Amino acid sequence: MNMETIAPTHKQEDRKTLVRRISRDSSQRVRLIVQWLFVALNGWLGIQFLLWVRYCERGGFALSVPRPAGAEGWLPIAGFMNTKYLLLTGHVPEIHPAAMVLFIAFVLMSLLIKKAFCSWLCPVGTFSEQLWKLGRHVFGRNLYPPKWVDIPLRGLKYLLLGFFVFVIGAMSAEAIRDFMSTPYGLVADVKMLNFFRDIGQTAAIVIGLLVLVSMLIQNFWCRYLCPYGALFGIASLLSPVKIRRDAEACIDCGKCARACPSSLAVDQLVQIRSVECTACMACVASCPAEGALQFSLVPRKASIPAERWRRRALSPVAVAAVIVFLFLGVVVAAKATGHWQTNLPKEMYIDLVSHAREASHPGLE
Ligand code: SF4
Ligand code: SF4
Repeated sequence: MNMETIAPTHKQEDRKTLVRRISRDSSQRVRLIVQWLFVALNGWLGIQFLLWVRYCERGGFALSVPRPAGAEGWLPIAGFMNTKYLLLTGHVPEIHPAAMVLFIAFVLMSLLIKKAFCSWLCPVGTFSEQLWKLGRHVFGRNLYPPKWVDIPLRGLKYLLLGFFVFVIGAMSAEAIRDFMSTPYGLVADVKMLNFFRDIGQTAAIVIGLLVLVSMLIQNFWCRYLCPYGALFGIASLLSPVKIRRDAEACIDCGKCARACPSSLAVDQLVQIRSVECTACMACVASCPAEGALQFSLVPRKASIPAERWRRRALSPVAVAAVIVFLFLGVVVAAKATGHWQTNLPKEMYIDLVSHAREASHPGLE
């Protein structure tokens, strides 16, 4: 190991000995691969879904592709409602079961490995990250709202989550089933697609502004507005794995805090409990000191020798394996038990999907 004494950048009297990390950190490379594989999966599902919608809109006279149930991952509210239905009745709902399966998988993921869904899987999170990196490249820096602006803004996503919890919490199992059986509920995914296909001027301006602000402020949507992320953040409080710092090995350089897209004071805490931590491991990647910072099952205690503590770290490959295992595990289990597809007759879908677009845009095909 390479040992040197450095002058800490933080205000402190003592100099600490830097035991420089030799092994190269692979967390950001592994995370990037997982992120873009998931974007590709979503792209593939999106194309298949679009072809299926065209098939239905043309009355069955077009390229025939099966409806990809995985697209229901874009229906988190339906997933939330169906999870409540399952808890109340003990029965898996027949409409949009995949939305529920994926919703449960992502909550489980948060319970196990913090909000890893947000920084490893969610395509919105991936694009948000690329946008602030692009913004830093174009404008030379990102903006960091002062605390008095940042903290109230962070509360917005909990208000939105509270709204959904209030509305869905007040629904009985019968009300959920009845809603899902309405023409709107049956093709809620098609309605969402149509929103983007026939986007109005106001919505386009709002999305354009969101893109611009996301270039300026790191993870603007995720940090301030996403109720899904708010829910995962609350679930992540129970995660046994956390970013943990060994204050003895740490040289107080502050690089981890500067690298954290959630603006967490990683360099001043021994573990990160925050609901804002997305397990992105950017802090770990930036740390120059051997064993100072890791995504770990156990906190660093005096009773645990440093070497043994370091062996309790969750490697980036292990994080990726947990994510892939959980994601594929629930999907395969749901498919094997027949709780994945919404089984409606083809003729019914043709009727519903063609009317779903006509209802809001009578002039369209
Ligand atoms: S504390 Fe580390 S893992 Fe958590 S969000 Fe910040 S950089 Fe990512
Ligand atoms: S934990 Fe943070 S402050 Fe400590 S050495 Fe690593 S990067 Fe520097």
